[in-house]
Amino acid sequence: MIPANLYPDVYPHLNVADVDIVTGAAGPGRRLVVWLQGCLKRCPGCANGPFLAERRGEPVAWPTLLARLDGLDGVTLSGGEPVLQAAALAPFAAAVRLRGQTVVCYSGYTLAELRAEPGAIARLLAQVDLLIDGEYQGDLPRAGAYRPSANQHVHLLTDRIPAGACTGNPDTVIRIRRGRVSQTGTLPAAVRAAVFDRLAAAGIRVRRGERTDA
Ligand code: SF4
Repeated sequence: MIPANLYPDVYPHLNVADVDIVTGAAGPGRRLVVWLQGCLKRCPGCANGPFLAERRGEPVAWPTLLARLDGLDGVTLSGGEPVLQAAALAPFAAAVRLRGQTVVCYSGYTLAELRAEPGAIARLLAQVDLLIDGEYQGDLPRAGAYRPSANQHVHLLTDRIPAGACTGNPDTVIRIRRGRVSQTGTLPAAVRAAVFDRLAAAGIRVRRGERTDA
């Protein structure tokens, strides 16, 4: 059974590692991406290293995130592993959809595994419009936008996101703000490291571990 409330001392808030707005590389359109802290898996080559530890990140009352959704297409849940906080995420995701916006979720668990779960994970899954599932497998090639390794799949679970919206998006978005660099997407680890090393050599601080694979 997959834990659905990994941080009972933080619940009903979310234990958040990071929040940012990303266009294209974390689901269709312009989205608020919420990286949840903590994952029970340790996939070799995972680019989200800082987000894996089961530690207290930033406790966030999810209604405050709704206020940041104005003008966006929806929210993307990433991590870490979002479903480990399904108990708090399910009402958040429902509130996002009530606003007419969409919910994208990454998970290292497969859709079949998630569908076998009762309770909070089932409630969260019922609010997800697009799921990218499966562990990162670095020995497999990338498979286009949203899929850092080819074993992962994009599942349109509702008709609220048209299939065409998932094509033509950038694989990776690299952002440089105030001398600080972060990236979201499916850039291969070796390429990412080379790019970041060049930027660091040029004196640009690099923020590592921000990536939207599961
Ligand atoms: S690839 Fe996904 S499931 Fe695997 S360790 Fe990283 S965050 Fe967890």
